Amino acid sequence: MKYLLIFLSFITSSLALTPADCDSESFALSKAYVTKENAISCQKIYYFQSTVEDISEFFQDAPGVRLFISPKSSNASFDYGETIYIPLQMTFPGKYGSVNYGDPTQTEYILAHEYGHAIFTKLLSRNSFYSEVYSIDKEFSNLEFEIKLNSKPTEQSEQRLAELSERKKSYNKLRKLLTDYSELYADIIAVYYSNNKETMLNALYFDDMSDQSYNLVLARSFSERSVDITDRIYSEEHASLVLARHFVGTNLWPKSKEEKQKFLSLIFKAIEEEILERVDREEYKLSAKKMNESLIKRINKIMFL
Ligand SMILES: [Zn+2]
Repeated sequence: MKYLLIFLSFITSSLALTPADCDSESFALSKAYVTKENAISCQKIYYFQSTVEDISEFFQDAPGVRLFISPKSSNASFDYGETIYIPLQMTFPGKYGSVNYGDPTQTEYILAHEYGHAIFTKLLSRNSFYSEVYSIDKEFSNLEFEIKLNSKPTEQSEQRLAELSERKKSYNKLRKLLTDYSELYADIIAVYYSNNKETMLNALYFDDMSDQSYNLVLARSFSERSVDITDRIYSEEHASLVLARHFVGTNLWPKSKEEKQKFLSLIFKAIEEEILERVDREEYKLSAKKMNESLIKRINKIMFL
Protein backbone atom coordinates (compact mmCIF):
# COMPACT_ATOMS: atom_id res chain seq x y z
CA MET A 1 0.00 0.00 0.00
CA LYS A 2 2.89 2.33 0.81
CA TYR A 3 4.28 2.02 -2.71
CA LEU A 4 0.85 2.59 -4.17
CA LEU A 5 0.57 5.76 -2.11
CA ILE A 6 3.89 7.11 -3.27
CA PHE A 7 2.91 6.43 -6.86
CA LEU A 8 -0.48 8.03 -6.31
CA SER A 9 0.83 11.17 -4.70
CA PHE A 10 3.17 11.49 -7.64
CA ILE A 11 0.43 11.27 -10.24
CA THR A 12 -2.22 13.21 -8.33
CA SER A 13 0.09 16.10 -7.53
CA SER A 14 0.29 16.81 -11.23
CA LEU A 15 -3.49 16.99 -11.51
CA ALA A 16 -5.62 19.93 -10.50
CA LEU A 17 -8.18 19.25 -7.83
CA THR A 18 -11.50 21.04 -7.63
CA PRO A 19 -14.52 20.66 -5.34
CA ALA A 20 -17.27 18.82 -7.19
CA ASP A 21 -19.84 21.36 -8.31
CA CYS A 22 -22.81 19.28 -7.17
CA ASP A 23 -25.47 19.84 -4.57
CA SER A 24 -24.40 17.04 -2.24
CA GLU A 25 -25.30 18.41 1.18
CA SER A 26 -27.38 15.35 1.99
CA PHE A 27 -24.20 13.27 2.13
CA ALA A 28 -22.85 14.21 5.55
CA LEU A 29 -19.92 11.80 5.60
CA SER A 30 -18.17 12.55 2.34
CA LYS A 31 -16.98 15.58 0.44
CA ALA A 32 -16.26 15.05 -3.23
CA TYR A 33 -13.45 16.53 -5.31
CA VAL A 34 -12.70 15.85 -8.94
CA THR A 35 -9.38 15.70 -10.71
CA LYS A 36 -10.88 16.70 -14.02
CA GLU A 37 -13.57 19.35 -14.14
CA ASN A 38 -16.80 18.54 -16.02
CA ALA A 39 -15.60 15.00 -16.79
CA ILE A 40 -17.58 13.37 -13.99
CA SER A 41 -21.34 13.76 -13.68
CA CYS A 42 -23.02 14.69 -10.39
CA GLN A 43 -25.03 11.49 -10.69
CA LYS A 44 -21.86 9.43 -10.51
CA ILE A 45 -20.56 11.47 -7.61
CA TYR A 46 -23.83 10.96 -5.67
CA TYR A 47 -23.57 7.26 -6.40
CA PHE A 48 -20.18 7.07 -4.68
CA GLN A 49 -21.33 9.29 -1.82
CA SER A 50 -24.38 7.12 -1.20
CA THR A 51 -22.10 4.05 -1.02
CA VAL A 52 -20.25 5.74 1.87
CA GLU A 53 -23.56 6.62 3.58
CA ASP A 54 -24.94 3.07 3.19
CA ILE A 55 -21.82 1.51 4.71
CA SER A 56 -21.73 4.03 7.56
CA GLU A 57 -25.02 2.56 8.76
CA PHE A 58 -23.23 -0.64 9.79
CA PHE A 59 -21.37 1.37 12.45
CA GLN A 60 -22.22 3.71 15.31
CA ASP A 61 -19.69 6.40 14.60
CA ALA A 62 -18.44 6.10 11.02
CA PRO A 63 -15.68 8.47 9.84
CA GLY A 64 -16.06 11.32 7.35
CA VAL A 65 -13.85 11.17 4.25
CA ARG A 66 -12.83 13.18 1.20
CA LEU A 67 -13.32 11.46 -2.14
CA PHE A 68 -10.84 12.38 -4.87
CA ILE A 69 -12.58 11.12 -7.98
CA SER A 70 -10.81 10.67 -11.31
CA PRO A 71 -12.22 9.30 -14.60
CA LYS A 72 -9.75 6.39 -14.84
CA SER A 73 -6.83 5.16 -12.77
CA SER A 74 -4.77 2.05 -12.11
CA ASN A 75 -5.02 2.72 -8.38
CA ALA A 76 -7.54 3.28 -5.63
CA SER A 77 -6.37 3.88 -2.09
CA PHE A 78 -6.99 5.36 1.34
CA ASP A 79 -4.21 7.55 2.74
CA TYR A 80 -4.80 6.54 6.41
CA GLY A 81 -5.94 10.10 7.08
CA GLU A 82 -9.16 11.34 5.49
CA THR A 83 -8.67 10.95 1.75
CA ILE A 84 -9.83 8.19 -0.57
CA TYR A 85 -8.58 8.16 -4.16
CA ILE A 86 -11.13 6.47 -6.38
CA PRO A 87 -11.57 6.37 -10.17
CA LEU A 88 -14.86 5.77 -11.98
CA GLN A 89 -13.11 2.93 -13.76
CA MET A 90 -10.04 0.91 -12.79
CA THR A 91 -7.36 0.18 -15.35
CA PHE A 92 -4.94 -2.75 -15.08
CA PRO A 93 -1.63 -3.23 -16.86
CA GLY A 94 -1.79 -6.10 -19.35
CA LYS A 95 0.76 -8.02 -21.38
CA TYR A 96 3.09 -6.19 -23.79
CA GLY A 97 2.19 -2.76 -22.38
CA SER A 98 -1.53 -3.06 -23.12
CA VAL A 99 -4.18 -1.65 -20.79
CA ASN A 100 -7.14 -3.62 -19.46
CA TYR A 101 -10.28 -1.99 -18.14
CA GLY A 102 -12.14 -3.04 -15.02
CA ASP A 103 -15.91 -3.37 -14.98
CA PRO A 104 -17.15 0.16 -14.07
CA THR A 105 -20.24 -1.28 -12.34
CA GLN A 106 -17.87 -2.85 -9.80
CA THR A 107 -15.96 0.30 -8.79
CA GLU A 108 -18.36 1.09 -5.93
CA TYR A 109 -17.13 -2.12 -4.24
CA ILE A 110 -13.54 -0.91 -4.53
CA LEU A 111 -14.74 2.27 -2.84
CA ALA A 112 -16.47 0.15 -0.18
CA HIS A 113 -13.12 -1.56 0.45
CA GLU A 114 -11.23 1.76 0.72
CA TYR A 115 -13.87 3.22 3.04
CA GLY A 116 -13.47 0.00 5.03
CA HIS A 117 -9.84 0.99 5.67
CA ALA A 118 -11.04 4.38 6.97
CA ILE A 119 -13.45 2.62 9.34
CA PHE A 120 -10.77 0.18 10.51
CA THR A 121 -8.41 3.08 11.22
CA LYS A 122 -11.02 4.98 13.20
CA LEU A 123 -12.04 1.92 15.25
CA LEU A 124 -8.39 1.21 16.02
CA SER A 125 -7.74 4.79 17.19
CA ARG A 126 -9.47 4.05 20.51
CA ASN A 127 -6.26 2.19 21.48
CA SER A 128 -3.45 4.21 22.98
CA PHE A 129 -0.74 2.47 20.91
CA TYR A 130 -2.39 3.82 17.75
CA SER A 131 -3.67 7.26 18.77
CA GLU A 132 -0.48 9.13 17.86
CA VAL A 133 -0.16 7.41 14.48
CA TYR A 134 -3.80 8.29 13.85
CA SER A 135 -3.35 12.01 14.56
CA ILE A 136 -0.13 12.27 12.52
CA ASP A 137 -1.76 10.53 9.55
CA LYS A 138 -4.73 12.89 9.77
CA GLU A 139 -2.60 16.02 9.93
CA PHE A 140 -0.53 14.82 6.96
CA SER A 141 -3.66 14.04 4.97
CA ASN A 142 -5.27 17.41 5.70
CA LEU A 143 -2.14 19.35 4.86
CA GLU A 144 -1.59 17.45 1.64
CA PHE A 145 -5.21 18.11 0.69
CA GLU A 146 -4.88 21.87 1.29
CA ILE A 147 -1.74 21.98 -0.83
CA LYS A 148 -3.45 20.10 -3.67
CA LEU A 149 -6.46 22.37 -3.53
CA ASN A 150 -4.47 25.59 -3.50
CA SER A 151 -1.89 24.14 -5.91
CA LYS A 152 0.92 26.30 -4.40
CA PRO A 153 2.44 25.09 -1.15
CA THR A 154 3.94 27.61 1.26
CA GLU A 155 7.45 27.04 2.56
CA GLN A 156 5.99 26.44 6.01
CA SER A 157 3.52 23.80 4.84
CA GLU A 158 6.19 22.00 2.83
CA GLN A 159 8.45 21.89 5.86
CA ARG A 160 5.67 20.54 8.10
CA LEU A 161 4.80 17.93 5.47
CA ALA A 162 8.42 16.76 5.40
CA GLU A 163 8.48 16.52 9.22
CA LEU A 164 5.27 14.54 9.31
CA SER A 165 6.50 12.29 6.53
CA GLU A 166 9.55 11.36 8.63
CA ARG A 167 7.38 10.60 11.64
CA LYS A 168 5.09 8.47 9.49
CA LYS A 169 8.09 6.44 8.38
CA SER A 170 8.97 5.65 11.99
CA TYR A 171 5.70 3.69 12.23
CA ASN A 172 6.34 1.47 9.22
CA LYS A 173 6.97 -1.66 11.28
CA LEU A 174 3.73 -1.25 13.20
CA ARG A 175 1.82 -0.42 10.04
CA LYS A 176 3.09 -3.60 8.42
CA LEU A 177 1.70 -5.63 11.32
CA LEU A 178 -1.71 -3.96 10.91
CA THR A 179 -1.99 -4.23 7.12
CA ASP A 180 -3.08 -7.86 6.79
CA TYR A 181 -5.93 -7.27 9.28
CA SER A 182 -6.90 -3.97 7.68
CA GLU A 183 -7.09 -5.65 4.24
CA LEU A 184 -9.23 -8.44 5.64
CA TYR A 185 -11.61 -6.08 7.44
CA ALA A 186 -11.95 -3.79 4.40
CA ASP A 187 -12.81 -6.85 2.25
CA ILE A 188 -15.41 -8.02 4.78
CA ILE A 189 -17.08 -4.61 4.62
CA ALA A 190 -17.12 -4.78 0.80
CA VAL A 191 -18.60 -8.31 0.62
CA TYR A 192 -21.20 -7.55 3.31
CA TYR A 193 -22.16 -4.34 1.52
CA SER A 194 -22.56 -6.15 -1.82
CA ASN A 195 -24.05 -9.35 -0.35
CA ASN A 196 -21.65 -11.25 -2.56
CA LYS A 197 -18.75 -13.45 -1.43
CA GLU A 198 -16.92 -12.91 -4.75
CA THR A 199 -17.10 -9.12 -4.84
CA MET A 200 -13.37 -8.42 -4.62
CA LEU A 201 -12.63 -11.08 -7.22
CA ASN A 202 -15.22 -9.57 -9.61
CA ALA A 203 -14.01 -6.01 -9.05
CA LEU A 204 -10.34 -6.80 -9.67
CA TYR A 205 -10.67 -9.41 -12.42
CA PHE A 206 -9.65 -8.79 -16.03
CA ASP A 207 -9.28 -11.23 -18.95
CA ASP A 208 -5.58 -10.85 -19.54
CA MET A 209 -4.54 -11.66 -15.94
CA SER A 210 -1.39 -13.63 -15.14
CA ASP A 211 -1.85 -16.82 -13.09
CA GLN A 212 -0.19 -15.21 -10.11
CA SER A 213 -2.45 -12.13 -10.18
CA TYR A 214 -5.46 -14.40 -10.55
CA ASN A 215 -4.43 -16.47 -7.52
CA LEU A 216 -3.96 -13.28 -5.52
CA VAL A 217 -7.48 -12.04 -6.24
CA LEU A 218 -8.89 -15.54 -5.78
CA ALA A 219 -7.50 -15.42 -2.23
CA ARG A 220 -9.94 -12.58 -1.58
CA SER A 221 -13.00 -14.74 -2.23
CA PHE A 222 -15.08 -15.65 0.83
CA SER A 223 -16.19 -19.00 -0.64
CA GLU A 224 -14.52 -22.03 0.87
CA ARG A 225 -12.05 -24.03 -1.21
CA SER A 226 -8.86 -25.91 -0.52
CA VAL A 227 -5.73 -23.82 0.02
CA ASP A 228 -2.07 -24.63 0.75
CA ILE A 229 -1.48 -21.90 3.31
CA THR A 230 2.29 -22.48 3.27
CA ASP A 231 2.45 -21.35 -0.39
CA ARG A 232 4.51 -18.17 -0.80
CA ILE A 233 1.60 -16.34 -2.39
CA TYR A 234 -0.06 -16.11 1.05
CA SER A 235 2.71 -13.93 2.41
CA GLU A 236 1.12 -11.10 0.40
CA GLU A 237 -0.91 -8.81 2.68
CA HIS A 238 -4.17 -8.91 0.67
CA ALA A 239 -4.05 -12.70 0.45
CA SER A 240 -2.58 -13.75 3.81
CA LEU A 241 -5.83 -14.08 5.77
CA VAL A 242 -7.45 -16.29 3.12
CA LEU A 243 -8.60 -18.91 5.65
CA ALA A 244 -10.16 -16.24 7.87
CA ARG A 245 -12.09 -15.06 4.78
CA HIS A 246 -13.39 -18.60 4.23
CA PHE A 247 -14.35 -18.82 7.91
CA VAL A 248 -16.32 -15.56 7.73
CA GLY A 249 -17.99 -16.61 4.45
CA THR A 250 -19.13 -19.89 6.02
CA ASN A 251 -19.82 -19.05 9.66
CA LEU A 252 -20.50 -15.32 9.75
CA TRP A 253 -22.45 -14.70 6.58
CA PRO A 254 -25.14 -12.11 7.49
CA LYS A 255 -28.82 -12.41 6.60
CA SER A 256 -29.83 -8.92 7.67
CA LYS A 257 -28.46 -5.43 8.31
CA GLU A 258 -28.57 -6.14 12.05
CA GLU A 259 -26.38 -9.21 11.54
CA LYS A 260 -23.92 -7.17 9.49
CA GLN A 261 -23.62 -4.69 12.38
CA LYS A 262 -23.27 -7.47 14.93
CA PHE A 263 -20.72 -9.52 12.97
CA LEU A 264 -18.59 -6.50 12.02
CA SER A 265 -18.36 -5.52 15.67
CA LEU A 266 -17.51 -9.08 16.73
CA ILE A 267 -14.85 -9.54 14.04
CA PHE A 268 -13.25 -6.19 14.86
CA LYS A 269 -13.08 -7.13 18.53
CA ALA A 270 -11.24 -10.35 17.64
CA ILE A 271 -8.84 -8.53 15.30
CA GLU A 272 -8.20 -5.85 17.91
CA GLU A 273 -7.34 -8.45 20.54
CA GLU A 274 -4.97 -10.18 18.11
CA ILE A 275 -3.25 -6.89 17.30
CA LEU A 276 -2.96 -5.83 20.96
CA GLU A 277 -1.41 -9.14 21.86
CA ARG A 278 1.08 -9.02 18.99
CA VAL A 279 2.02 -5.39 19.70
CA ASP A 280 2.53 -6.26 23.34
CA ARG A 281 4.76 -9.23 22.43
CA GLU A 282 6.46 -7.22 19.67
CA GLU A 283 5.55 -10.03 17.31
CA TYR A 284 5.88 -8.04 14.08
CA LYS A 285 6.25 -11.06 11.83
CA LEU A 286 3.95 -14.05 11.80
CA SER A 287 3.39 -16.75 9.16
CA ALA A 288 0.07 -16.74 7.30
CA LYS A 289 -0.67 -20.15 8.83
CA LYS A 290 -0.30 -18.91 12.39
CA MET A 291 -2.06 -15.62 11.69
CA ASN A 292 -5.14 -17.42 10.33
CA GLU A 293 -5.23 -20.08 13.05
CA SER A 294 -4.93 -17.58 15.85
CA LEU A 295 -7.54 -15.16 14.47
CA ILE A 296 -10.07 -17.91 13.65
CA LYS A 297 -9.66 -19.35 17.13
CA ARG A 298 -10.30 -15.95 18.65
CA ILE A 299 -13.38 -15.22 16.50
CA ASN A 300 -14.75 -18.65 17.48
CA LYS A 301 -14.19 -17.89 21.16
CA ILE A 302 -15.99 -14.52 20.97
CA MET A 303 -18.86 -16.07 18.95
CA PHE A 304 -19.64 -18.46 21.77
CA LEU A 305 -19.19 -16.04 24.68
ZN1 LIG B 1 -6.86 -2.27 0.74
